[in-house]
Amino acid sequence: MLAAGDLPHLSTMLERGGRNRAITVFPSTTSVAYLPFLTGCTPGRCNIPSIRWLDRRSYGGRWWRDRESVRSYCGYQAPRLDGDIAPEVPTIFELEPESIGIFTPIARGLTPDRDPSRRERQFWGSLAHFALWHQPSDDAVSRHLLRAVDAGWKFVFAQFPAVDGYTHQTTPDAEPVRRALRKVDATVGAVRQRLRRRGELEQTLILVVSDHGATVVRAHLDLATWFRRRGIPTLSHPVTWERSPRAAVMVAGNGSAMIYARPGEPRESRWPVERLRQADAFGSGGDVVEALLREPAVALAAGESVDGGVWVGNARGSARLFPSANGVTYQPIDGDPLVVGGARTATMRGWLEATWDGPYPDAVFHLLDQFRAGRTGDLVVVAREGHDFRERFEVPEHKAGHGSLIRAHMQTPVWASEAVPAVPLRTVDLFPAMLDWLGLDVPDGIDGERVWLPRSRPRFSIPRKRAYASA
Ligand SMILES: [Zn+2]
Repeated sequence: MLAAGDLPHLSTMLERGGRNRAITVFPSTTSVAYLPFLTGCTPGRCNIPSIRWLDRRSYGGRWWRDRESVRSYCGYQAPRLDGDIAPEVPTIFELEPESIGIFTPIARGLTPDRDPSRRERQFWGSLAHFALWHQPSDDAVSRHLLRAVDAGWKFVFAQFPAVDGYTHQTTPDAEPVRRALRKVDATVGAVRQRLRRRGELEQTLILVVSDHGATVVRAHLDLATWFRRRGIPTLSHPVTWERSPRAAVMVAGNGSAMIYARPGEPRESRWPVERLRQADAFGSGGDVVEALLREPAVALAAGESVDGGVWVGNARGSARLFPSANGVTYQPIDGDPLVVGGARTATMRGWLEATWDGPYPDAVFHLLDQFRAGRTGDLVVVAREGHDFRERFEVPEHKAGHGSLIRAHMQTPVWASEAVPAVPLRTVDLFPAMLDWLGLDVPDGIDGERVWLPRSRPRFSIPRKRAYASA
């Protein structure tokens, strides 16, 4: 659309600014994938491994008393996200008191006056879900955003949900999606015009980003149904109770899912893949992991290994990821599921640089990150392009989706009013960039690295032409 001249205001912004792509987090889905922008941390570090999860340590199978140990941010539990984020992780709203969030799924640190659209978000959000009507949400965001610009807030974060909403109901390039994008473009134009009038355009960093990509879904494999067909009582949303469940299935996006074995029996640690493959793990009489990998919808599965690190497999073989002296090693066992080409050791940055444009961009970093979170399931299942994992209770049906580790879901645009370095980025790296622009210190212990400091620029001084060429 940019190339076709369909986004004139963004095009004007990019004449002086720059663009690149950044790798989002896994699972590549809304709520979770906003953590990088607003905390500089990954889902694993935040202990928010997905939009739905189960606390294996506390869940004991009781319908009412244990309902708090099962989470879905897609319904009435959405406001629980702020309190679920690991307490030591600060949000940008806590670091910058002169900040405001509009339609933000993460609001920790915001006082009610700094979260002015909270009620509208809930109202339009629930209506859009049933009425297939997302533009009123974006129109409300535009109104609040322009008001915030006029009020002179130092940092403004605004989420435009319509592009994602229309994408799920149609296709990523359908007319309703394009119309919503043109309206976002018009809002950017209005923001820039107001800033110019006040003489503040040049001092303002505008970042237009996305938390994930999307692709067309041609076939649904309802994973919860898949387990039940094997005689395995399975817990899954929206009915989060099952007598003596032997599996819990938590789907995200809907291109990935976390599987918990024996969720009604509280335990401290995850079962390794070797244990999950035993016939009694799910009580199905067979190797559930192998059966999953034979499904055409499944690209990858991953779990912890008894040998340490993370085991990852597909239908043709498996490999193991583990920290080693010079970074992280990918060691094929009897296959190359991440399509790396053989054994390899690299730093986390090295893995990003080597794989950011591959079939599973930066997957080494993101799979290890998933298993940092205590709340992550025993097994993580990743869908192949064109497939997703939810059918029965997805109303309306998802005709396009995300949530997987594939390139089209993981690569996201970074369009900025300042030059962007032509180096591979993660969305977590935009957090230090924003703090730098705001003149704030970057806190220790976050996952975002100082690869782009748009104000002080000490690390990469890249000629502007190269930055333009980056996308
Ligand atoms: Zn979505």
